Amino acid sequence: MTFARHDYDAVIVGAGGAGLFAALELGRAGAKAAVLSKLYAVRSHTGAAQGGICAALGNREPDKPLWHMFDTVKGGDYLVDQDAAEIMCEEAPGVVFDLEHMGVPFNRTDDGKIDQRPFGGHTRNFGEAPVRRACYAADRTGAMILHTLYQQCLRAGVEFYDEFFVTDLAFAGETVAGVVAHDVRAGELHSFRAPAVALATGGWGRLFRVTSNAYANTGDGAALALRAGIPLQDMEFYQFHPTGLHGLGILVSEAARGEGGILRNDAGERFMERYAPRLLDLAPRDMVSRAVYQELQTGRGLGGADYVGLDLTHLDAEVLDKKIPEITDFARIYLGVEPKEEMIPVAPTAHYAMGGVPTTVDGEVTRDEEATVVPGLYAAGEVACVSVHGANRLGTNSLLDILVFGRRVGRAIAEFVRGGKGPAWPAEALEGRREKVARWRDTAGGPAVAELRADMQEAMEAGVSVYRTAESTAAAREAVGGLLTAYGDVGVGDAAAAFSTELLEAFEVGNLLALAYVTAASAHRRTESRGAHSREDFAARDDARWLNHTLCYLRDGELEFRAKPVTITRFEPKPREY
Ligand SMILES: Cc1cc2nc3c(=O)[nH]c(=O)nc-3n(C[C@H](O)[C@H](O)[C@H](O)COP(=O)(O)OP(=O)(O)OC[C@H]3O[C@@H](n4cnc5c(N)ncnc54)[C@H](O)[C@@H]3O)c2cc1C
Repeated sequence: MTFARHDYDAVIVGAGGAGLFAALELGRAGAKAAVLSKLYAVRSHTGAAQGGICAALGNREPDKPLWHMFDTVKGGDYLVDQDAAEIMCEEAPGVVFDLEHMGVPFNRTDDGKIDQRPFGGHTRNFGEAPVRRACYAADRTGAMILHTLYQQCLRAGVEFYDEFFVTDLAFAGETVAGVVAHDVRAGELHSFRAPAVALATGGWGRLFRVTSNAYANTGDGAALALRAGIPLQDMEFYQFHPTGLHGLGILVSEAARGEGGILRNDAGERFMERYAPRLLDLAPRDMVSRAVYQELQTGRGLGGADYVGLDLTHLDAEVLDKKIPEITDFARIYLGVEPKEEMIPVAPTAHYAMGGVPTTVDGEVTRDEEATVVPGLYAAGEVACVSVHGANRLGTNSLLDILVFGRRVGRAIAEFVRGGKGPAWPAEALEGRREKVARWRDTAGGPAVAELRADMQEAMEAGVSVYRTAESTAAAREAVGGLLTAYGDVGVGDAAAAFSTELLEAFEVGNLLALAYVTAASAHRRTESRGAHSREDFAARDDARWLNHTLCYLRDGELEFRAKPVTITRFEPKPREY
């Protein structure tokens, strides 16, 4: 086996919106940056984002960053760090204009400004009524942003290593020294030495059986941090989007409701009138998902089945064809349903991780409740928890988060690497991984990785879904704990060095199992209901005890929890009515 060695100022792990914007800033600053991605860059999940990216531009009606901040904090059920949310909402217009100048083809108003549409939980004047805040490029907003940033990165001299799977972080003492990566095509391990490493590996919807997320969304970056002794923050807060295509989980963007779509039960009732009388179908996702779930539990699914209807039949054909063409096509292609004539069968689907690797507002990864920084390690995007989404994210706030904080990470690293070259490469990092891979290849007859994954997804779906209880979360934690132990004996039958998908799955399932364990345990520990974490046995929010972030460590199979304070600057916690 040959080892390739590389030397950079900065290594960015992940080529979605967060990684590309960080890399672009580094390129613009003249730093030598490499982007490593297990997928071809433009296949990152950011490209699947449909509905839009929000910014208080006020192009359609009056709007302000402060209103946006309020909505974000309230939408997140007051678990949001308000200093971070303020930065995000203030920097939003600048980021959108930056994208516009780079060439993102946003839809336009009649007078040529960037058009905006309503999305769940976005309101004017502190909750009065929905506001049009989401900027969009039809329902292909993420793809347009991803392609534009990729082109700009090439122009700025950023180097890409596509189909390089990062397996380990390398440290010299407490300081980051680089990463180890597996070259998928050649089946070889490479070392990348760099004084700064940014994790931008996206989310982990694949914890669950029914998800809107791509196959690649296995949370590798979060698991890398966990293995390095870094805690994960607020993992119990996992968002279920109310409108996945029935049985498949493929997303029907909230843009469908932003454009006027209505959720209906078997009686044809607009049931959101009972759950959120003011914002109706545009209430935040946690509330709409719970409403759908309750309709289904009480037998009001369409024809008694386990889905409700998303009604677009009253909308102009032109709106469907021009503003949400892709998602209406999904209904035709995957379910054989014509949205102009019949309701689309939808049900909640696992969608978005509010929690993740804790960071400062400049994306520096922190290791404890006092926010002690891990020198040289950064994170941005869905893998990170900065925390702007708190207990529940509003639609279109993720594309914004990944770009605002991706850009900030790029700028912070550019400054950091001016300080020097960083530590020497620690040889044991690569040796350790090489031995593990060799052991896997020599092992025969262990548990099949695909079965471990299927069992984990069943356990998470049953125990840590829209609603949870002490029993359900304990059962999931025990089941996943057992799978983690079993994972220790896996073997990789497909020993071919090049393109061993079995080897990649072994990496990924190990990462998912660690995240599932931490998620189930964190959900078990938090005995209240807040945002996306709904405990049937503790139905109320409990600020006296639980207005704090969860930090969960996993060391040598042992869990440790700590509480981290929430930063509250402008908005004191209030009951959450919509
Ligand atoms: C279907 C769908 C629709 C959405 N629509 C919207 C929307 O309209 N508006 C909105 O705001 N949000 C939306 N979201 C959420 C949003 O798109 C994501 O949260 C966001 O794009 C994540 O970006 P990211 O840069 O963090 O990661 P991603 O775009 O997921 O990129 C992750 C990158 O990491 C790389 N990677 C992962 N693991 C490794 C590894 N081990 N080694 C090397 N590379 C690795 C991958 O190759 C990839 O390049 C949507 C999400 C989905 C799933």
